[in-house]
Amino acid sequence: MVEENLIQVRENIKKACVRAGRNPEEVTLIAVSKTKPVCMIEEAYAAHCRDFGENKVQEIMDKEPQLPTDIRWHMIGHLQRNKVKYIVDKTALIHSVDSLRLAQEISSQAVKKQVDVDILLEVNIAGEESKFGIAREEAVRLAEEVAILPNIHVKGLMTIAPFVSNPEDNRQYFRQIRELSVDIGQKNIDNVTMSVLSMGMTLDYMVAIEEGATMVRVGTGIFGERNYG
Ligand SMILES: *Cc1c(COP(=O)(O)O)cnc(C)c1O
Repeated sequence: MVEENLIQVRENIKKACVRAGRNPEEVTLIAVSKTKPVCMIEEAYAAHCRDFGENKVQEIMDKEPQLPTDIRWHMIGHLQRNKVKYIVDKTALIHSVDSLRLAQEISSQAVKKQVDVDILLEVNIAGEESKFGIAREEAVRLAEEVAILPNIHVKGLMTIAPFVSNPEDNRQYFRQIRELSVDIGQKNIDNVTMSVLSMGMTLDYMVAIEEGATMVRVGTGIFGERNYG
């Protein structure tokens, strides 16, 4: 099932790229494996998936040692400062940085472990109360503040769009994130690039790609519904 789903999702990504006149190689599919067992990750790995997304530190710590070392782990969930030390040297990209204090902790743990950590700034683009992330007005300042910290590099923006039944309703937000990333990029802040736009999930990744996503985070569409016990 995982393999068939992956084929379908990759096909959809290609189609969305064609519609938008983009090269499919610009888009990285992150298989969101949260709550799913190692055996399903192995199925996706066998089907050539190398990027996996998790939202809990404990789950990355459990799964990472059981799986091939060429997997790129993406931390996509809210990250508590006291847990940063467990994952800074295990993740390829932390998508969910939403405060200077968190960035400072990532930086200091990265220095301690002598690694460089790539991060995204999480923006709450629709201003939803229930969501983490900074307001769009705060993004430039946070980028400037993180830019001067050692061993941490801002690579772009991440957003979790509202839960909607019609993905077209989120097009405006994806467009706004892209515009924001262009604005920040034009400021030419040292140590900050805006090459990554992490946006789009199972229900709306095709719209997100049409609006410029370079990373889409697809869970249900690959692994099926999640069962929270
Ligand atoms: C769970 C999750 C996803 C994947 O959601 P699906 O709707 O299952 O594709 C993507 N991004 C984040 C941040 C998540 O927590």
